[in-house]
Amino acid sequence: MTYLIKPHLHRTYPTVRSAKGIYVYDTDGKKYLDGCSGAVTANLGHGVQEVMMAMNKQAEQVAFVYRSQFTSEAAEKLAEALSQQIGRGTTYWTFLVNSGSEATETAMKIAIQYWQEQGRKGKNKILSRWLSYHGITIGALSLSGHPMRRARFVPLLEDFPTISPPYCFRCPYGLTYPSCQWRCADELETAIVRIGAEHIAAFIAEPIIGAAGAAITPPDGYYERIYDICQRHDILFIADEVMTGLGRTGKMMGLDHWNVQADIIALGKGLGAGYTPIAATLASERVMAPIMNGSGVIMSGHTLSANPLSASVALAVLQYIERHHLVQRAHEIGTYLFTKLQNLQKQFAWIGDVRGKGLLLGIEFVVSGKEMVPSDLAFTDLVVTVAQQKGLLVYPAAAGNGKDGAAIIIAPPLTIEQSQVDELIDLLEQTFREVQRRCP
Ligand code: PLP
Repeated sequence: MTYLIKPHLHRTYPTVRSAKGIYVYDTDGKKYLDGCSGAVTANLGHGVQEVMMAMNKQAEQVAFVYRSQFTSEAAEKLAEALSQQIGRGTTYWTFLVNSGSEATETAMKIAIQYWQEQGRKGKNKILSRWLSYHGITIGALSLSGHPMRRARFVPLLEDFPTISPPYCFRCPYGLTYPSCQWRCADELETAIVRIGAEHIAAFIAEPIIGAAGAAITPPDGYYERIYDICQRHDILFIADEVMTGLGRTGKMMGLDHWNVQADIIALGKGLGAGYTPIAATLASERVMAPIMNGSGVIMSGHTLSANPLSASVALAVLQYIERHHLVQRAHEIGTYLFTKLQNLQKQFAWIGDVRGKGLLLGIEFVVSGKEMVPSDLAFTDLVVTVAQQKGLLVYPAAAGNGKDGAAIIIAPPLTIEQSQVDELIDLLEQTFREVQRRCP
C-alpha cells in the first residue's frame, strides 16, 4: 500500500537507495546511468563532497530566516556571484525562489511592474511561443506552448503562446535557413502589431527549447532579430534559462551562444543542481531602476525564498562549476556525445533529427522521413521504459506538433567522463535495438 501520490498512479517506480557521480542505485541493487541528470537538473552529478560540506556548515549556522526580517551572507554572496558570472558586464539583481515555475511567475510580475512604475499600466500581456515550457503553475502554464500539459486547464489559462517556434526540422513555413530570413522571428512583430505594443510587457523564450521540443535550437541570427523587434516595440525580453542556464549548453548561459542579453532571466534546475530546491529571477539594472526609484517593492515572494541553506548550496554549486571548468567541459564532451548520437542516427532510420548544444541534446523520432510518430503509439514512453530496463535514464520530451511526435533528451551531468559517454551510447544502442525488435 502506498499513500504517496506519484506522477502515474498505475505504475510502479523503483525505490532509490543511493547515487554517486553519474550513477543512481535502487533498493534492488540495480544501477542506472543518469543520462538526463534527472530532469536536466543534477548538473554536477550526485554526492559531491564540496556541496554537502557547504550544506552542513550552513545548517549548523542558520538554515532559515524569513526574508522580510533578515538577509543572509549566503544569499547576498549568491546574488553577487550570479551577477558577476552571468552578467557579461551588465549588473543583474537576483530574486530567489524555490522552483523554475516560481522563477517564471516572478519574471512575469517584474516585467509588468517595470511598466507600471513608469505609468504604463496597460502593458501587462506576456507573449511566448508554441512548443515551449515555462512551468506548471497557472501563470507559467499560461505562457507554455505545451498542448498536453495545458489541455485540462485551458479554461483557466490566459491565451499567451502566440508565435511559432524556430523549429528548422519542421519549419512552419516549409522554408530553409538562411533563405528563410528568420520568418518565424518576424511572427513576433506581426503579433505585436496585431495585439498592440501598448498591451504587451514582455516576450519570453527558452534559448534552446527543452521539455516541449527536445533541444530545438534556433539558427544563428534568430535571437538578434527577436531582441531587435522587442526593443523597437518597447517590450522586455525574458530568457527562461531554467534548463539551459549555468553551463548546460557549453556556455554559461544558453543565450551566450548568440549576441543578445536578456532583460530578465529565469534560473532553476542546475542552480541547486538537485541538492536543494532553489531557483531565481534576475533582472538587469535597467529593469530594476524604475522599480527602485518608484515603489521600491517587488510585489512577490514565498515563505522559503532566499533561505540561507539553499543559497549556500547554490553558491557551492556555482563555485564547483567554475573550479572544475564545467562550462568548457560541457562544450567539449557535448561535442563528442553529439557525434556519437549522429552515428546512431545512421543506424536507425526512425531517428529523424539529432540536435542541441553542449550537453543538452535531443533526439526526435519519426515514422519515416519527417512523418510524426502518432501520439497513440506512446512511443516516447516505450523508449524511456526500455532504456530504464537496460539501466539508462533518458528524459521524455514533446516534439512534432506537441501532441503527435516523439522525442527524448540526453543530458548527463556535466561531470561525465568520455568513457562514460561510450557506456551511455552503448546502453542507448541496446535500447534502440530492443525498441526496433518490439516495433518492427
Ligand atoms: N522553465 C523551463 C525551461 C523548464 O524546463 C522547467 C521545468 O522543466 C520550468 C521552467 C519549470 O521548473 P520547475 O519544474 O522547477 O517548476
